[in-house]
Amino acid sequence: ATPMSIIAGVGRAAEFGVLVKDADALQRASEVDTIVFDKTGTLTAGKPQVTQIATFSELDESAVLRFAASLEQGASHPLAKAIVDKAGTRALLPASSFRTLGGKGVQGEIEGHRVTLGNQAMMAESGVDTRPAREALDNVASQGETPVLLAVDGMLVALFAIADPLRETSKAALERLHGMGYHLVMLTGDNPVTAGAIAKQAGIDTVIAGVLPDGKAEAITQLQQQGRHVVMVGDGINDAPALAQADVGVAMGGGSDVAIETAGMTLMRHDLQGVADAMSISRATLKNMK
Ligand code: ADP
Ligand code: MG
Repeated sequence: ATPMSIIAGVGRAAEFGVLVKDADALQRASEVDTIVFDKTGTLTAGKPQVTQIATFSELDESAVLRFAASLEQGASHPLAKAIVDKAGTRALLPASSFRTLGGKGVQGEIEGHRVTLGNQAMMAESGVDTRPAREALDNVASQGETPVLLAVDGMLVALFAIADPLRETSKAALERLHGMGYHLVMLTGDNPVTAGAIAKQAGIDTVIAGVLPDGKAEAITQLQQQGRHVVMVGDGINDAPALAQADVGVAMGGGSDVAIETAGMTLMRHDLQGVADAMSISRATLKNMK
């Protein structure tokens, strides 16, 4: 192996906005056959917005929004930010006994009421009957939006539809990666229906959805046990163990610091074309070494 061609490859990648921290990663990338993408903030823009609110009790839209935003004030999830933004200038209430269930949702007490917010797993955990929302759940998810359910004192009161569309450049970048022969996988904590709709828009081959935060690295290990050589692309704190487990980890610039520290490469532009650039530079570099 000639170190000179590796150095040239690292320089070439930098010209394309790909920061290669671990020069060996460039070499390992040439063996890769599978590219795994986190959904939120990686394939999508990662700026979710509430598009619709459905209510299932006497509490109106303003009241359910106030409960939900009061609870999400204490959360750091992108979905939490969407709900707090939607509440606008409404005066929020203090929440006590606040807790987060990773990959499921949040819970707390507001004005003596037990308030629960999150996905269907979160509602199941709290014994909330979600049947009144079944139709709304299906509609929202099949459009590629994420349904977030709200319960007060164990009763379902609302569903928030939250949209986080694909980044403009994702589809073209994935087409290019397909053309290079890679198998493309989406790995997400979101529900399978929402994930499937976004995957279809993006041109993803395989969806792994409903993964709990500490299950992402395990999913990478399973792909490797099937004999695949894997690039993982992600931006979140949750993604760091999977970035470390992959043959090559790629972080989105502007993502979490942990993701950037863990990854062998970082995309300086918020654009998955950088992954395709890195892969073709890796191939060219290795060809020059033979
Ligand atoms: P990802 O980063 O892949 O979107 P997460 O593990 O962060 O996955 O979240 C998985 C799911 O858990 C979300 O899609 C949402 O349904 C639910 N969830 C997690 N945190 C919250 C929250 N603060 N508010 C509402 N829902 C949440
Ligand atoms: Mg993410």
